[in-house]
Amino acid sequence: MKKNILIRTNLLVCLIIVIGFLITAFLSYQMNYTVSLDNIEQVSSLTSEGIYYQLTTLFTKPVNISLTMANDSLLRTTLLQEQENLDSSEYIETLREYLNSYRIKYNYDSVFLVSSATHRYYNFEGLDRTLEPENPENDWYYDSLSLSQDYWINVDNDEVAGANNKITVFINCSIQEDDGTLLGTVGVGLQIDSLQALIQEYENQYNVEAYLVDQNGMIEIASHYTGYEKVNFFSLFDYPQDIRQSLLIWNKGEAADSFWTAQDGRRSGEDYLITRYIPELDWHLVVRQDTGKFLAELRQEMLRSALIILMIIIFILIVITRVIRSFNRQIVALTQSMEQEKRSIFKKATEELFDDIYELDITRNRPANEATVQYFMSLGAEANTPYDEALKIVAEKQIKEEYRQGYIDTFKPENVIKAYKAGQDTLKYEFLMSTGGDYFWMRITARIIAQKSDGSLHMLTYRQNIDAEKRQENRLQELAQLDEMTGLLTKTATRRHIEHLLKEKPDQLYAFFILDIDTFKQANDLYGHAFGDSVIEKFAAVLRAQFREQDIIGRIGGDEFAVFIPAPDIAWVKNRAQRLLKALHYTHMALGNSWDVSASIGVALTAREAQDFESLYQKADSALYMSKKNGRNNYTLKP
Ligand code: GH3
Ligand code: MG
Repeated sequence: MKKNILIRTNLLVCLIIVIGFLITAFLSYQMNYTVSLDNIEQVSSLTSEGIYYQLTTLFTKPVNISLTMANDSLLRTTLLQEQENLDSSEYIETLREYLNSYRIKYNYDSVFLVSSATHRYYNFEGLDRTLEPENPENDWYYDSLSLSQDYWINVDNDEVAGANNKITVFINCSIQEDDGTLLGTVGVGLQIDSLQALIQEYENQYNVEAYLVDQNGMIEIASHYTGYEKVNFFSLFDYPQDIRQSLLIWNKGEAADSFWTAQDGRRSGEDYLITRYIPELDWHLVVRQDTGKFLAELRQEMLRSALIILMIIIFILIVITRVIRSFNRQIVALTQSMEQEKRSIFKKATEELFDDIYELDITRNRPANEATVQYFMSLGAEANTPYDEALKIVAEKQIKEEYRQGYIDTFKPENVIKAYKAGQDTLKYEFLMSTGGDYFWMRITARIIAQKSDGSLHMLTYRQNIDAEKRQENRLQELAQLDEMTGLLTKTATRRHIEHLLKEKPDQLYAFFILDIDTFKQANDLYGHAFGDSVIEKFAAVLRAQFREQDIIGRIGGDEFAVFIPAPDIAWVKNRAQRLLKALHYTHMALGNSWDVSASIGVALTAREAQDFESLYQKADSALYMSKKNGRNNYTLKP
């Protein structure tokens, strides 16, 4: 029971903590999630802007330098002289020096010049080759002839073994005569392997991916791709069609467009994309943030905190359980010691009150504890004697004969069950018993209890020695029957005793004497009431001495007495009356006075036709009257 309460308390505490934690975790997850999405948008936007700015800076300077060269009149003049100097090494040397001086000054990888007239390709090393229109490697040049703008950019991002697989960006400018005639193309080439490193750096720092893609979505430059691999951006990520289109048609200068790639455009578990158009390259800079990765991190973070909190909860529970357990133990120990103390006080008290306490299993008709078995065995019963048999042995061995049957009837199993069913749970029986010596009064109080465990009836009996109590009670009863002054029976007691005997032995002849002190008033009048009392006391004692212990002798009036004795015949009665008159005729001396005592007697004998006390009394009383009338100190017999 206590354990259950402990478990329930723990579970409740657990539940409260877990619910609290779940709510907190959910709210914090929601907040983190929203904040993180905002963060993603900002970081992606800044990254995109950063890369865009770097790219623009990278290309501005070479464009300016190429334009400067294209507008250099010296270069134009020199180009116009090419036809006359086709084989002149001096001429070639002049161009080489010119181009090389720019290369050295600005530290470009290449500075070149293509003549429109001869398609000769000069660079910082001199005349390199003549560009054949059939060779596809020269498409960049022949395609550009139809362009109308001042400059264009061409990227050579093919992986060429000799060129260390470097990406080279060429900035090309047209050299024109004043009338617009095309004289040639001049430009610089710079290796921008640093571009990949730059992108990589941004990616590492801001946890994004950046791609430079062309109008068809082909990746030109990314941290792990070059145009050489011909990988389409949209083959890497399966985005909806409308996003593809929006991404590629965006071409507004420095501004950016952004998308969440979920089907419904919601800001949730998908990718965030920002696109910018780079007009110089006719490429798009696409920055991608993978929220899946970030969400996984967020969840992992949450899982980690959940684990920590779980451990804390377990720790708290262990501590709480221990504290409660030890608290319980202390309470139990305290309660037990208090109970023990109470029990020992109670035991002491009951031991003083009761001689023995025994327990019986009434349903199974056997003793219910060892002490009871021992008690039965001490009276000679076998170890496994049934209770009803043992009950008879106890009655036989210890209980006075006239109480045996009552004892057995009160406590035999069937009667105990009957009593219990009738709603009685306490039985009492008082009897005289002996344990070898004199008989003494004993009271057995039995409590009938139904066992909670199996419903069987048990009976606890308490034996109480009530001898002193009983004797006192009897004495009181006896006193109530006796006349205080003389110790003889009262009038009522006399009557009861006589009626009892008349009923018990109706055939027996009895003599009923009424005796009255002659002229007793005189004694009072002459010597006082106290003297009168002493006359009565003495007269009673003399009368008492004339009869046996068991004879009925009573004081039935102030100076009037009665005697009821069995009589063998009338002669014996007459003789007895004579003797009585003689014995009751004496001189009483007390308190310094003396007074002659005599008595008159009326005697009635029991007869078949007049067996009741009343008629007996009437007869004796009228006989007494006769005696008084006849001069006192004599007797009259009415047979
Ligand atoms: P008789 O011979 O006719 O019996 O004459 P008597 O004087 O004895 O008359 P009676 O029996 O009628 O009187 C009894 C008197 O006994 C009356 C009463 O005052 C007196 N008496 C009754 N009880 C007591 C008592 O307890 N003590 C004393 N001292 N006197 C008592
Ligand atoms: Mg009298």
